[in-house]
Amino acid sequence: LSVTELVKDSLQTVGERDGQVKAFLTVDEEGALASAAKLDEKKAAGEARGLLFGLPAGIKDNIVTEGLRTTCASQFLRNFDPVYDATVVRKLRAADSVTIGKLNMDEFAMGGSNENSSFAPVRNPWNLDRVPGGSSGGSAAAVAAGEVYFSLGSDTGGSIRQPASYCGVVGLKPTYGLVSRFGLVAFASSLDQIGPVTRTVEDSAYVLQAIAGHDDRDSTSANVEVPDYVSALTGDVKGLRIAVPTEYMGEGVDPKVKESVMAAIRKLESLGATWEEVSLPHTEYALAAYYLLSSSEASSNLARFDGVRYGVRAENPDNLLDLYLKSRSEGFGDEVKRRIMLGTYALSSGYYDAYYLKAQKVRTLIKQDFDRVFEKFDVIVGPTAPTTAFAIGSQTDDPLTMYLNDILTIPVSLAGVPAISIPCGFEDDLPVGLQIIGKPFDEQTVLRVSHAFE
Ligand code: GLN
Repeated sequence: LSVTELVKDSLQTVGERDGQVKAFLTVDEEGALASAAKLDEKKAAGEARGLLFGLPAGIKDNIVTEGLRTTCASQFLRNFDPVYDATVVRKLRAADSVTIGKLNMDEFAMGGSNENSSFAPVRNPWNLDRVPGGSSGGSAAAVAAGEVYFSLGSDTGGSIRQPASYCGVVGLKPTYGLVSRFGLVAFASSLDQIGPVTRTVEDSAYVLQAIAGHDDRDSTSANVEVPDYVSALTGDVKGLRIAVPTEYMGEGVDPKVKESVMAAIRKLESLGATWEEVSLPHTEYALAAYYLLSSSEASSNLARFDGVRYGVRAENPDNLLDLYLKSRSEGFGDEVKRRIMLGTYALSSGYYDAYYLKAQKVRTLIKQDFDRVFEKFDVIVGPTAPTTAFAIGSQTDDPLTMYLNDILTIPVSLAGVPAISIPCGFEDDLPVGLQIIGKPFDEQTVLRVSHAFE
């Protein structure tokens, strides 16, 4: 099979399925075929092949791609063609993968259902009336629908893991700092991480291998040695100590989801692992802390969108202030405005101590919950999300209910530790996700345990 054939096959599947699924915002047919032709030449010349040679990939549309429109699913950026590539995009190219196009998402990665895309909601390939999850819904749906071999998503509070769970694919949020954020349009800089969405755990290891590593252009990039993730995939879990947090198996979690998760834990037990129930006592404060911190950071990060430097400029402003106001009023959707208002309020003088500072302290307590458990255990296991994919439109009027879908992924983001979601069963024909959480920079163990299910 030539790379050109592989890429044509991917483009054809996009043509057949994406009218319904709507995972793509931009398809770069010309660019993809040109890269494929180059790779086929390379193959013919007998040159060394990259780790992801010829694999068709989709990129979440908040990761900048030179000359290829990058919208963050926002009207504000509907005409934005970046002048450079994100580090992860350069790395994918160096690994010889082929970018098929840019993937739909919640506007500026704010949301958990993909209904906040200003272009079109993405639909879950398992059931087109259900959401794919979000904000990387396009990334998860494109892989689940077989449109691409793998994709990149971003996760701030669950945006890789939760859609992976809803779409029955593998989604990995690396340790904060393992993958460069250079070229990722910032939502909440202290939480954002790019990671792979794939069909298998093995693929996840390969893609992580290609994108991980220190980057001088990201000041929060960790200076750590990148281990060999692929060789960690032994599937051996003998002697592994698993912690199951009581708070992740509580009342709000669907009993059938709990059942699937328990079955997965028992499977690990049968393979030689041991498990114990533990407590992560500050879990109940995670959601409040996350929405204060992430919105505060967003209000600051999104100040750069002023109609002058990036994206769409409002027409006929009366003066400069009016230009800002009009451009931002027209450019941002409701959820983005809600977060900017909340964040601006939380950061305003007089409220800083009561909200932002308090939330930072809670974040430290949450991190310490994880540290304590990891003194005695190798991984923490639980559901990725409290339910399976819900119906499109069923939660759009109620932001607070919507925010609860991320209650099991957000603490991990606040602690900065790695976590994966892998499929662990079905409920009423919809996939259930198992979340496996690891120690900082211990993606190897997370992948090794996950691989035991393949
Ligand atoms: N759903 C969460 C939010 O709306 C998480 C989003 C994300 O991880 N980008 O903020």
